[in-house]
Amino acid sequence: MGSNPTEPSTPPNPLSMRCDAFVRAAGGLGVAAGPARSTYRAIYRDGVREAELGRGGTLRLEVAPIVKELEEETPEGVIRKFVQRLPGGAGETAAAREMPYYDIECVQIPMIGRRGVKSHTLCVSSQVGCAMGCGFCETAQMGLIRSLTAAEIVGQWWGATHERQASVKNIVFMGMGEPLDNVEAVIDAIAILTDHNGACVPMTNIMVSTVGKADGLRRLCEQMAEPGWRRLGIAISINAPNDEIRSQIMPINRATPMAELREAIRAIPFVGTHRKICFGYVLIPGVNDRPEHAAELAEYLRPFTASGSPDGKHHGMLNLIPYNPRRDSPWPAPYEDAVEEFLGWVRERGVFAKRRRTKGRDSMAACGQLGTEEVRKRRFVGVRIDGAGS
Ligand code: SF4
Repeated sequence: MGSNPTEPSTPPNPLSMRCDAFVRAAGGLGVAAGPARSTYRAIYRDGVREAELGRGGTLRLEVAPIVKELEEETPEGVIRKFVQRLPGGAGETAAAREMPYYDIECVQIPMIGRRGVKSHTLCVSSQVGCAMGCGFCETAQMGLIRSLTAAEIVGQWWGATHERQASVKNIVFMGMGEPLDNVEAVIDAIAILTDHNGACVPMTNIMVSTVGKADGLRRLCEQMAEPGWRRLGIAISINAPNDEIRSQIMPINRATPMAELREAIRAIPFVGTHRKICFGYVLIPGVNDRPEHAAELAEYLRPFTASGSPDGKHHGMLNLIPYNPRRDSPWPAPYEDAVEEFLGWVRERGVFAKRRRTKGRDSMAACGQLGTEEVRKRRFVGVRIDGAGS
């Protein structure tokens, strides 16, 4: 019996869908559910790149090649930043579309667990460049070139796991781009990465870090009301004690001021979980490091502290991040004493706070330093903020 010409005859891309969708698509090619599920598992678990898929012929996994790597030794192991190269021609603007390729960056951060088990946190990118324009950030220098598809985000996990043999335990959306500026693809990617037949990363081990893009945060909150999603981690980059300073270093604040952002954060449905909202604060000398800044910040975070929450528990955690100077930065890194001092000031005011140890500064792989050198000086898209224009 010949195949129906209206039926699809090309293999589906397993990196762009959950197992059940893959099995359905493979069914349309005449492949039974069992073998289709086994193929999906083999791709994710064993790193298989090719498989026969009935009338679809040979499925060849399309993963962007790794074209560059930087490594840095740390006491926990080697931090590896790798660059994947995506085909060009699909950018946000005519100039971006003329580019022959786009490079995205991904960082494997080594960790040693409580029992000495070694694993990695994978910091993935959600966009090529970024439209948010944060003044302290390397990626912002590129502007937004284009958003990634779910398959391209999942492809970073696949490349790290199967091409670089990383044991990925956690995934953080803290690489290039603002994840909530590409919220649908990020939600799809998380749904795929948590699939039990695939990468099987626990929801509780995934963290989305955002500057607080209000519409994207609302959409993510809707998704987090779904079963299985409440344990997703959320990190909000606050980085300032008040609107004046925040608007100077983070243009998004002109569209969503801090009071409005706090209301949006309070709507995140963490009910029934032990998760805390993570607040990121990049400590920048001369910008946001004064004692009065610590006092204002503590006041802002009060509803998320034990003394300010209705049940007397901490619902937020401040992650103090010593600034990693980007290229041509107007600000230096803070002195160690200044970091410890600031930490003391906020803790005295009841904030549950930790400091993040800086890893990867030398290889420009630390927070706020992801950006492709070749294109960072070319601004393809102006700073685009919710309703604020560019
Ligand atoms: S800090 Fe994040 S949101 Fe801000 S410009 Fe950099 S990548 Fe974009």
